[in-house]
Amino acid sequence: MIADNIRSVEERILAACQRAGRPREDVTLICVTKTKPVEDLRQAYDAGQRVFGENRVQEIIEKFPRLPEDIQWHMIGHLQRNKVKYLMDRAVMIHSVDSAALAQTISKEAVKAGRVMDILLEVNAAGEESKFGLGYDKVLPLIHEIAPLPGIHICGLMTVPPYTENPETSRVYFKKLRELSVDIARQSIDNVSMHTLSMGMTGDFEVAIEEGATHIRVGTAIFGARNYDI
Ligand SMILES: *Cc1c(COP(=O)(O)O)cnc(C)c1O
Repeated sequence: MIADNIRSVEERILAACQRAGRPREDVTLICVTKTKPVEDLRQAYDAGQRVFGENRVQEIIEKFPRLPEDIQWHMIGHLQRNKVKYLMDRAVMIHSVDSAALAQTISKEAVKAGRVMDILLEVNAAGEESKFGLGYDKVLPLIHEIAPLPGIHICGLMTVPPYTENPETSRVYFKKLRELSVDIARQSIDNVSMHTLSMGMTGDFEVAIEEGATHIRVGTAIFGARNYDI
């Protein structure tokens, strides 16, 4: 069933790319595996998927040693500074940086681990109080502040728009995120490339692709609804 779901998501990605005149390789599908058992991840792996996303460090720690080493793990959820160190030998990218303090901790741990961590800045696109992320006007100042830090590379922006039944509602937020990334890229800041736009989930990934997403984060459409009680 997971393999079938992946096939249908893949078809929808391809169709959205074609509508947008973009090559399929422009878009990375991140299979969001939070709350799902390792067996489900294994099925996705066997169906050819290699890029997985989790929103809790603890789940990455538990699942990482039980799955093949060629999986690329993305940390997509809110991150506590004391957990950052556990990502250094497990994650390829952190999508949820929204403070200088967190960026400094990532920098320090990455230097200690002898690596460079790719990071995205999370933007709170609709200014929702319940959400993490930076207001639009806070993004550029934070980039200037953290770009000189060693051990990190700022690769782009990420957002989670307000929940909606109508994917078209998300379009304005995706457009704004892309515009912001273009504005930032124009400034040619050292250690900052704006190649990555992480946006689009089960409900709106096709719209996100049309608006320039390079990474879509899809859970429910692949693995089914999540049960948070287990
Ligand atoms: C859970 C989650 C997703 C996936 O959401 P679905 O609607 O299940 O596709 C994407 N991004 C983030 C940050 C998430 O926490």
